[in-house]
Amino acid sequence: MSSNMNPKEMPDSPLLTRRGFLTASAGASLFMVAGGIPGIAWAAKKPPFSLPPLPYAEDALEPHISSKTLKLHYGKHHQGYVDKANKLVKGTKYEKMTLEEIMLNTAGKSGKEEGIYNNTAQIWNHTFYWKSMRPDGGRKPPKNLMKKIEASFGSFEDCKKQLGQAAKDQFGTGYAWLIKDGDTLKAISTEDAENPLAKGMTPLITIDVWEHAYYLDYQNRRAEYVDAVIENLIDWEFAAKNLGE
Ligand code: MN
Repeated sequence: MSSNMNPKEMPDSPLLTRRGFLTASAGASLFMVAGGIPGIAWAAKKPPFSLPPLPYAEDALEPHISSKTLKLHYGKHHQGYVDKANKLVKGTKYEKMTLEEIMLNTAGKSGKEEGIYNNTAQIWNHTFYWKSMRPDGGRKPPKNLMKKIEASFGSFEDCKKQLGQAAKDQFGTGYAWLIKDGDTLKAISTEDAENPLAKGMTPLITIDVWEHAYYLDYQNRRAEYVDAVIENLIDWEFAAKNLGE
């Protein structure tokens, strides 16, 4: 893939063939981007942002996630982050950066930057969350991913167990992620809008565990929601593509 493709021409995956992207050391004020980000189209978009299309119909994840939940989560919450981010970046230096660049350059900062980070990261996280699921998901990962899962977790069952535990144990709002850290895969959780890319990790899959993701369908039973997503909805092919191999 060329590294200077127009975002519109970029294929939707793999996500992290961004060679030379995270080249700045941690704490540097600007992440260096060599010739554009060879990543997924929506992460390379510049403001004003618009709501990326949902990859399936609003009722496609039923009975595990209802159309009522998707309608609100996608149409109101995700849209809300898009609107807020557009408002916050207007007239700032961030207007010229891509979604991902804005997110990475505001990570860990306070003041106005904190709001910009939270809202751009939420656009990123939600777009990634929709793609982490599909109507006929669950099942087994493709071979190349399965090998890495077995090397890192021992077995696919243990990988699912650890991902589920990260999601269930996250206190308050946040996300559970399957990530690649160096050569190892790990199941981690993050708080609020926090995105693992800002820590130099490669996200493969995410599960939103903010209450708005499950409360209408499961009320306080987050564990049931998490198990339903892992067993029936996770798109392991999307995860495999994000390995960037
Ligand atoms: Mn959410």
